[in-house]
Amino acid sequence: MKMEYESYQAKSMVNKMRRVDDWFWCKYTLNPYRGCAHGCIYCDARANQYGLSETFDQKIFIKENAVAVLERQLPRLKPDVVSMGGICDSYQPIEGERRLTREVVETLSRYHFPVEVLTKSDLVLRDLELYKQANRDTWACVFFTITTFDAEIAAQFEPGAPSPERRLAAMTEVAKAGLMTGAAMMPLLPGICDDDDHIVDVVRRVKDAGGQFILCGGLTLKKGVQRDRYVSFLELHYPEITALYGRLYGDGFGTRGDYEARLQGRVREICARYEIPDRMPRPILPDDPLAANKRIAEKLLLRAYGLTLDEANSYRVWAYRKAAWAIDEMGDDIESIYRRTGRKGLQSIKGVGKSLSTEIEGWLQPGL
Ligand code: SF4
Repeated sequence: MKMEYESYQAKSMVNKMRRVDDWFWCKYTLNPYRGCAHGCIYCDARANQYGLSETFDQKIFIKENAVAVLERQLPRLKPDVVSMGGICDSYQPIEGERRLTREVVETLSRYHFPVEVLTKSDLVLRDLELYKQANRDTWACVFFTITTFDAEIAAQFEPGAPSPERRLAAMTEVAKAGLMTGAAMMPLLPGICDDDDHIVDVVRRVKDAGGQFILCGGLTLKKGVQRDRYVSFLELHYPEITALYGRLYGDGFGTRGDYEARLQGRVREICARYEIPDRMPRPILPDDPLAANKRIAEKLLLRAYGLTLDEANSYRVWAYRKAAWAIDEMGDDIESIYRRTGRKGLQSIKGVGKSLSTEIEGWLQPGL
């Protein structure tokens, strides 16, 4: 397929999130490119909501003014984790010659912003020294999307991306360099690679490669280009499972019933067997005066995730989330509040009632 590249003048480079993301622990997202030549069949970025064109994998826009825009934006922002690769892979082939992601990471480091990159490409190893330096200064994480090691499935669904084997080899190098790394098993495609054999294979090999966490998620089918493209592909190559998709998705974008919770529950069990966390550990930046707040918020959000897997009452799940966000966003140190005013003080925090304050106290007492 012939690729087209076009220069693009971005108005903004850093997108600030309302709340910390409890999957990737980022506060900002950033994409040096619009469009992605990896051309994955399931790619969520094709969804109409992102405003990327139908030629998403054939015409790539290069944000040529990325560094200039960052130089303007970063001094006005509070340093926190910037996540790259959420929408368009930062290490897609054009990066080999254009080196725009490299310039972006250099700029983020200059302003002391911690950085994480999720990629399907081993090209990221070219910048390993840069990430090592960023990790010494603040924090850096390089991790890889791997949903299967079945070469045939990977070639079908991720036609323009380096093979999962190459990604795993790159992960080994990243781990050896002392950086945090792991795998995003996202999306685990129903009827294709969501069975235990595929999951065990990925978890075991990621663990052996030095991966420190696994994240998993199912497929979403958003109305419009993304869904149409995926369903046509399925009809052509996997007609025998189209009925399964009909049952699982109907007209909705997510799976019905308890499919997602059961999938994540199975991944949790398998990860436990191989002693690798099924959540990404939250980075705490050196000398962060609110480190305790971040740790407590992490624990509360982990509890919320565990409750969703148990299909607990959504009221309980939201209670944990809301308390976590309130603690994460407050300007006072929760440990000092507790030392000064005890459990009563904890209960003065928005969303923290009697029962949550007891739980938080249990975490604070032995020291975090
Ligand atoms: S690598 Fe990621 S952004 Fe690129 S096409 Fe695949 S899923 Fe989409």
